[in-house]
Amino acid sequence: MTRPRTGLDWHSAAHWGGGRRLPCVHCGRGAFCRDRKGHPCHKTCAETAIRDAAEPAWNTSGALGLGGEAA
Ligand SMILES: [Zn+2]
Repeated sequence: MTRPRTGLDWHSAAHWGGGRRLPCVHCGRGAFCRDRKGHPCHKTCAETAIRDAAEPAWNTSGALGLGGEAA
């Protein structure tokens, strides 16, 4: 049983860009896949973006320290 953690179904034909490689909206490198809005993207880039958007707090506060205030 393989179930993606993000819940995305990349088997859908809607995610196939028809064999045309276009710049990924996340990293800018050529991608064959399309996100659910039809924008070119890599599967891993889309899943990383969704994960980051879902958990923004620990992703940024850790890098800035507990205070998070700029000097
Ligand atoms: Zn990408």
